[in-house]
Amino acid sequence: MSSRARVLLLNAALGPLDYRVPHGMRVEHGSIVVAPLGPRQIVGVVWEEDRFPDVESVGDNRLRNLLEVVDAPPLPEPLRRLIEWTADYYLSPPAAVLRMALSSMSALEGARTVIEYRATGAVPDRMTEQRAQALERIGDRQGLIRELAMIGGVSDAVIRGLIKQDIFEAMEVSVDTPFPLPDPDHAPPALSEAQAAAAGQMADAVRAQDFAPFLLDGVTGSGKTEVYFEAIAAAVRADRQVLVLLPEIALTEPFLERFEKRFGCVPVNWHSGLRQSERRRAWRAIASGQAQVVVGARSALFLPYPNLGLIIVDEAHEASFKQEDGVHYHARDVAVMRGLIEKFPVILASATPAIETRHQVELGRYAEIRLPSRYGGAEMPDIHGINLLTDPPERGRWIAPPLVKAIDETMAKGEQSLLFLNRRGYAPLTLCRHCGYRFQCPNCTAWMVEHRLTHRLACHHCGHVIPAPRRCPECKEEDSLVACGPGVERIADEVKALWPDARTAIATSDTLWSPARAADFVKSVEAGDVDIIIGTQLVTKGYHFPNLTLVGVIDADLGLEGGDLRAAERTFQQVMQVAGRAGRGEKPGRVFIQTRMPESEVIQALVDADPERFYAVETENRRRANAPPFGRFAAIIISSEDADEAAQTARLIGKSAPVIEGMRVYGPAPAPLAVLRGRHRHRLLIHASRQVDIQAAIREWLGNLTWKSGTRVAVDVDPYSF
Ligand code: ADP
Ligand code: ZN
Repeated sequence: MSSRARVLLLNAALGPLDYRVPHGMRVEHGSIVVAPLGPRQIVGVVWEEDRFPDVESVGDNRLRNLLEVVDAPPLPEPLRRLIEWTADYYLSPPAAVLRMALSSMSALEGARTVIEYRATGAVPDRMTEQRAQALERIGDRQGLIRELAMIGGVSDAVIRGLIKQDIFEAMEVSVDTPFPLPDPDHAPPALSEAQAAAAGQMADAVRAQDFAPFLLDGVTGSGKTEVYFEAIAAAVRADRQVLVLLPEIALTEPFLERFEKRFGCVPVNWHSGLRQSERRRAWRAIASGQAQVVVGARSALFLPYPNLGLIIVDEAHEASFKQEDGVHYHARDVAVMRGLIEKFPVILASATPAIETRHQVELGRYAEIRLPSRYGGAEMPDIHGINLLTDPPERGRWIAPPLVKAIDETMAKGEQSLLFLNRRGYAPLTLCRHCGYRFQCPNCTAWMVEHRLTHRLACHHCGHVIPAPRRCPECKEEDSLVACGPGVERIADEVKALWPDARTAIATSDTLWSPARAADFVKSVEAGDVDIIIGTQLVTKGYHFPNLTLVGVIDADLGLEGGDLRAAERTFQQVMQVAGRAGRGEKPGRVFIQTRMPESEVIQALVDADPERFYAVETENRRRANAPPFGRFAAIIISSEDADEAAQTARLIGKSAPVIEGMRVYGPAPAPLAVLRGRHRHRLLIHASRQVDIQAAIREWLGNLTWKSGTRVAVDVDPYSF
């Protein structure tokens, strides 16, 4: 290479810049380097010059010297292509995507050791039952406080207490210490015939080392995890790396446990809670190829695996795979693109695939593998609708008589029930009965939600909280505030009133905020210490409770009200997923759906247990509306703390909209959350047919405009909901 290098710097505001490679320094494409930028030093990656042809040419004599090459493997070529593709497709600066690959640089600097702990073997004189159990579960394992807490099923504080008592000792571990290697032959399961066929097909694809996207479409409880574990085993045997993407941290703990049972050790866990040194260790092990199986949230997708041979996206329909700030990418789609570029299979696993994914199957682009029945002969639950118009709950109550009866029956049999309502807190709205005052968030266009457990009102969008007030701030009337509508806490109150002896558990992100809390919850349900669970979408997936035989959906219409593009699909998925929690053991399950729209397509398809009809009808609706997967959308969100500025910029952008055949621009209009975290938001919606190069159109359109620095203009290509 010449003595010049084009460097993509970790600064989204800048494009790539050219530097001189000083004598004696060796760089190649992908080298991670430190470069001077003004008085600062900044990390960047040496890139192919022809990929960024527009860089302003600087005379050799004005070039500054690169400072050093970072001691890390160069960013692999396919990852550089993926970064470019992502930046192009989602209209983001390449540096913003690169940042995810280098994990905000923290992997490259900072502490060189990680502190882990392990049992000393000392036995304390007195110990609580909980601690004794945790100690037994942990055994002679060594790990981070969090990992040990997870394995022990206790909170971090318990582990810290044990450390103080010298029952655990600290071990300093170099960031270069390798992770244990999963053993593909540790404990292979006996697969059913259908499972074995599915596993064989995917293992073949892994061995073929070619691009092969799969939809693993199996009803809840069919054993999708067991099946894709065999694909992982095949990749490990072939010495390839594997990435498993999970939609939610809450699902990590049960995953780690199952993985350890199957492969003899836990995989490398990548998540936002890692400390810098832990992150550095994981990053280095991934980049060197030592880390063989990595499990993580969507951000693990851009890490520099040199040798990736398989990606699994579990619960691939989940909305959380779509990133809603920074680079607005969809991890499911980028995962498939990574498989295409690097030539390996990608498995999308789901019991309720997205319409888009089903459509790819119909077009013949993705292979579909079906697991049509539950493992071990468990039946799918019976689903019944409850018409709230003809069978309403008592005044001031939310559980209708048929559901009350079903819970009675379930309690009598000593079985467990789950009531699902996707609303945290006690009530979504608090108002003054005297003057009509409503508590609104000062930063957002949103009502404050009452949380009785913590005696507070909270905004679920920005986190603003106030102590629960006793009197109306407007008319000063005492005790005039009333809660409107239900949240899970209110349903829990109703349950307590109806079944005073029932043991209940509320399962939301407020109550299960740590992996240890979630583990405690799971253990108490498994031990039969809970009769009725009241939960949000947090309990709709992953859990396997054999004695849970009844699911009640408190308000199936909630998701339909917004009326957005995915309302029907989301409702369908949510109810199917929560229904999937019922009757997973030997006892059959029942599901009751409370609705005011019993004749809607979604509810009908659910009650008739006919998902195919739902997919057919919904796909046809999308086709007629030219909505995804047929047509495409993009959104431009303009926001500013200054209301006038936001409105003006939105108008300016709206006025400059290009006229292109097959493309229409709607708005600007106030965005659905017109004020969010104190920023005023306007939105333009672009609807185009597949023939239009929507990215090119937007790039050219916005490229010609300028706005004040406090104004943000974010583009969301393929927005998830609007
Ligand atoms: P899904 O992810 O499709 O909902 P899981 O993989 O969680 O299903 O499997 C459901 C339950 O059935 C789990 O408890 C799992 O351990 C069990 N299971 C599935 N397949 C097998 C098998 N081949 N052998 C033993 N247990 C199995
Ligand atoms: Zn707010």
